[in-house]
Amino acid sequence: MKKVKALVLMSGGLDSMLAAKVLMEQGIEVKALTFVSSFFNAEQSRESAKKIGVELIEYDFMKDHLEMVKKPKHGYGKNMNPCIDCHGLMVRKSLELMKKEGFDFIATGEVLGQRPKSQNKSALNLVEKYGEYEGFLLRPLSAKLLPETRMEKEGLVNREKLFDIQGRNRERQFALAKKYDIKEYPAPGGGCILTYSEYSNKLRVLLEKWPDANNNDVDFLRAGRVFWADDIMIVVGRNSEDNEKIEKLANDKDLIFDLELETGPLVLVRDKRNTKFKKFVKIELDIPKEMDLDKYPENKDAVIEKAAMMTGYFATKVRGQKISVILK
Ligand code: SF4
Repeated sequence: MKKVKALVLMSGGLDSMLAAKVLMEQGIEVKALTFVSSFFNAEQSRESAKKIGVELIEYDFMKDHLEMVKKPKHGYGKNMNPCIDCHGLMVRKSLELMKKEGFDFIATGEVLGQRPKSQNKSALNLVEKYGEYEGFLLRPLSAKLLPETRMEKEGLVNREKLFDIQGRNRERQFALAKKYDIKEYPAPGGGCILTYSEYSNKLRVLLEKWPDANNNDVDFLRAGRVFWADDIMIVVGRNSEDNEKIEKLANDKDLIFDLELETGPLVLVRDKRNTKFKKFVKIELDIPKEMDLDKYPENKDAVIEKAAMMTGYFATKVRGQKISVILK
């Protein structure tokens, strides 16, 4: 008899691990799927998949995801997190993959009523309507509270062995984790970086300045402190890790400043209009003790000089000194 194959959306949290285990217990062949974007990576899912012994597919959908984040049909949650559209996109992509790779259905660890906006009953239905493939989605943890799916009707899955978990109380999930000997799992409730207000504010500003921003532009928000001189972005590395990220993300149109002799932050300048700046190889600058980081000159060459100065300013120890800054 042909083995039933399921693709489980793996967020990395306990619920998605349990959804996979519940299906594996029924003898269903399970593979996990996780998504990679500018706002989350596969790290947690990788660990969780390893713990429960399932193969993980890492799907890079960062371009589509960013476009959705710019204009979500169903709006945002508390911050820049468009959870309903995000789930919808994940479901749609996984359904495409399901079809292509010959899986019978997809499953998620969603629990009814667990999160206010994205996981109430109408949101779950909405997510299902996103795909042209209605009826291919199973939520093993809340299935008994939802209409019977095609998979249950056709006997691919035994509905009796699925669950009727709902709400925020996690006692039943903890009991199931114990049963499946899952000892370590991430704390529940954490969303991706789009749920953080500080990050969301930075992203909002970036998208106002550059509505056509691409993933590479957005990735700079996590590569250092970001300042804006009108629509020119200045990124200051906070440590050596940031400096490495800045060098990795930079393209040949960006300017990167470094201190010639001392160690300090790299400062990157990105101008999407590709203005021809007066360039220098090395410049001697008097680094001020105080700098107003909210105000920038209108003249673009003066902005470049201020950015070069920030290399010394953020190296703190050379404030008040004459120092040479090089263009990398
Ligand atoms: S928290 Fe982030 S990853 Fe999760 S659904 Fe919302 S936007 Fe998507």
